[in-house]
Amino acid sequence: MPLSLAELGELFDHLDETLEQEGCDHSPRITQLFLSQKGLDPDQVLPWLKEQGGYCDCEILANVEEGWESEIGKNT
Ligand SMILES: [Zn+2]
Repeated sequence: MPLSLAELGELFDHLDETLEQEGCDHSPRITQLFLSQKGLDPDQVLPWLKEQGGYCDCEILANVEEGWESEIGKNT
């Protein structure tokens, strides 16, 4: 995977907070910004998220978080 479990956990927390305030505009805008700020390459991470059904910010939270929640809980 192109980012660590800790980083993935931070991304989900960030999406959770930001989507509540700003909502989803059906693009991975918030995710992309977060990755850039973290020094991660969106060109590597976004395709990986898409493979798991995360095509926009709300889908990343809804479809991708589910599969990683317990893994993140165990390891961070
Ligand atoms: Zn969305």
